[in-house]
Amino acid sequence: MYTHERYAKRVAAGVCYRCGKNPAAPGKRSCEECLVRQRASARYRYRQLVKNGICALCRHEKATVGYVTCDACRAKNIIYSRIDYARDHHKEAKS
Ligand SMILES: [Zn+2]
Ligand SMILES: [Zn+2]
Repeated sequence: MYTHERYAKRVAAGVCYRCGKNPAAPGKRSCEECLVRQRASARYRYRQLVKNGICALCRHEKATVGYVTCDACRAKNIIYSRIDYARDHHKEAKS
């Protein structure tokens, strides 16, 4: 649980706002350790969505076949329209 006050204090002190023990990474508000953990869980959530054929952007529509997003989100945000997942997945499956 993050309170606003605690968050502000940690940011002001230059420590990670998440764990409060490590110094924040340059230009970030959390430490390298927490950033890595955060990235890993974001990736995991993303994978789950893609695996289940759910749009990775709005997370409630069905994704179009061959894409990670639904039609509506793709129309709104063209950047996310290309599927990176297959390449990623391939790389990891090999190692
Ligand atoms: Zn941290
Ligand atoms: Zn969507």
